[in-house]
Formats: sequence, C-alpha cells, structure tokens
Amino acid sequence: MADMVMTAGVRKKLQALVGSPIAWDCPLREYTSFHIGGPAAALITVQDLEELQSLLQFFIADHIKWHIIGRGTNLLVSDAGFDGVILLLGKEFTTFSRISAGENGGHIVQAGAGCSLTRLVNWSLEQRLSGLEFLTGIPGSIGGAVVMNAGAWGRDLSDVLVAVTFITSAGQVCTVPRAQLAFGYRIWHDLHDYELSIAAAGAEKVVINVSLQLQEADPAQMRTLCQAYRDKRQMTQPKGGPNAGSFFKNPPGDAAGRLIEASGLKGLTIGGAMVSVAHANFLVNIGGATAADVLELMETVQLRVREDSGILLEPEVHFL
Ligand SMILES: Cc1cc2nc3c(=O)[nH]c(=O)nc-3n(C[C@H](O)[C@H](O)[C@H](O)COP(=O)(O)OP(=O)(O)OC[C@H]3O[C@@H](n4cnc5c(N)ncnc54)[C@H](O)[C@@H]3O)c2cc1C
Repeated sequence: MADMVMTAGVRKKLQALVGSPIAWDCPLREYTSFHIGGPAAALITVQDLEELQSLLQFFIADHIKWHIIGRGTNLLVSDAGFDGVILLLGKEFTTFSRISAGENGGHIVQAGAGCSLTRLVNWSLEQRLSGLEFLTGIPGSIGGAVVMNAGAWGRDLSDVLVAVTFITSAGQVCTVPRAQLAFGYRIWHDLHDYELSIAAAGAEKVVINVSLQLQEADPAQMRTLCQAYRDKRQMTQPKGGPNAGSFFKNPPGDAAGRLIEASGLKGLTIGGAMVSVAHANFLVNIGGATAADVLELMETVQLRVREDSGILLEPEVHFL
C-alpha cells in the first residue's frame, strides 16, 4: 500500500523539504503504547514551524495523506498501517516558558505541543506553579492532551487552558482563546466560532502550542498531591502489558470498568488482546496482539455490556 503513493519522485521531493532523515515504511507499533500497528509510508519528525508549513503545502499540492500523532498513548493503528505521512513534533515544539504574571499569584505559561505531560508537570513543580498535578502519570504529549481533553480525578486540560495555537492543513496559524473553543469529556469539539475561520473548521489541524493558567503554590503540597495520584494509579492500573489507558469512555453516571467487570469479562482474551484483570477498562496486549484482535475484543465487550446493561460503550481510544 505504501508504495502506491510514495514513488521515488515523491520521496525525493519530500526528503528535500525536511532537515531530518525520513523513516520510510516505518512500523508504527514502535510509536504507540499498545505496540500495535502496521507501517506508515513515511514518518517525519518535524523540526520547526517553517518545515511544517512547507510539508502541509506539499501534501495539498501532491494529494498526500498525512496525520499527526503525539506519543501514541491513545491510539490504535490498523495492522495495514497508514498509506501516507505520519508527522511527529520535534524538539522545537517541546519548550515551555512563563509568559506573564497576573493578579493573585496567577501565571500564564506557554508549552510546546510536542512536550510530554510528565516533563510539563515536573517543570511546573520546579516553577512552584500549581494546576497540572492531575496530569501526573498520563503518558501523552500536550498536543494529544488538548485533542483528547485529557484528564483525571475530576479535572481536565480545558480547566487550565487559556488558548490553543494550531496550524490548519492549509497552513493557516490560528491562536484561539479558550472561550471560543468547546471541550467535552475526552473530546475537543470542532471550532464553533464561525467567524474565526472557515478553513479551520473541520479540517485536520496540528496543535503547536498551548497557553495555560497556573497558580503559585507551596511545592511541598503539590508534590504530595502528585504522589497521591501516582499511588492511586499504581493501585488500580495494570502493571504489565502494553495498553492505551482507559479504552472506553465512562458513560454518564457510571464507569466503563464497572460495567465490563459486572458482565464477567475480566480476563477475556482474543488472540493477543485481553481485558485486564487489574482494571476491566484496560485492554492489554499480552503479546503479539494485532489491531484486529483488539477490535474484535472491543466489539465483544460492547456487545456483552449492551446485552447486560443496555449501555453501548463508546471507545475513548482513537483509530488510525
Ligand atoms: C497507562 C495509560 C494511562 C492513561 N491515563 C489517562 C488518564 O488518566 N486520562 C486521560 O485523559 N488519558 C489517559 N491516557 C490516554 C493518553 O495518555 C491521553 O489521552 C494523552 O493525552 C494522549 O496524548 P498522545 O500524545 O499520546 O496522543 P496520541 O495518542 O498520539 O494521539 C491522540 C489523538 O490526538 C491527535 N494528536 C496528537 N498530537 C496532536 C497534535 N499536536 N495536534 C493535533 N492532533 C494531535 C492524534 O492524531 C490522535 O487523534 C492514558 C494512557 C495510558 C497508556
């Protein structure tokens, strides 16, 4: 499949556009926490905004499919892979800084979308800035966390967001304040300000950085809170087996894990994929799982839970 789009001519033109070597026919399982997925025709680690813009222009002109991924911790990639270009954000997109101090100990910080949540939380602790402790132990990038509206313990990223800067597939860079963005439970809804940009609505976008509102606080208290969250995760989440975190969204007023467990599905195994015994909302790769195994397991779980409770579980994980 990959060879159909990536002719030698296209490969040459693409390589000329970027500073780092392109990984051709690149196995995506190495870029996902599930350790599952076939090859991408190409994988490019983008060095800076200028490079990203030239790539997006080239993709439009040459009708090349592309997709941005973060740390791949909420992603199931198909066994056939992806017949286009996968983009990853490189070093230039991993910086953070305080940009202003507000009233009452409030601070605005800016973070590159490629930065890991763990690094951001640690940095905020060093800076004595509170507000991100709930992200402790979530293994994704900031860009992925915006798209997923990642969260835990009753808080999510949209609670601390001030603005998101992204680039549209047409190369338009937009900084949109939080008030003009709509977030829900594990979802960033499409842009809903029609005046903002027709081009931006519905098009694939690359988040490049975010501004967050944090608060000066006592670092000892912040560390205690982070440790408490880490301990809770240790107690409830599977210790081994690659996975993508909670597989299904919690339905209103209930927990997906409780429903799956109530249907007696803990330990259910299809191929190399298993419903975790430690936490029923984790589907784990117990060795050699394919995306097809995970999808079959997902459908079986959905069917059984629906039969038992009438509730259709909706996946939280994104599919590529
Ligand atoms: C052990 C474990 C525990 C987890 N616990 C939690 C938890 O408590 N709470 C929670 O919310 N999640 C949790 N997750 C899921 C996951 O870590 C988060 O959703 C995280 O925010 C995803 O970030 P990512 O960079 O890995 O995104 P990816 O998985 O790479 O991508 C997710 C989606 O975001 C898109 N995307 C990624 N980066 C960008 C970008 N820069 N611009 C535009 N689109 C982008 C991708 O195309 C994809 O559609 C957990 C996962 C694991 C493995």
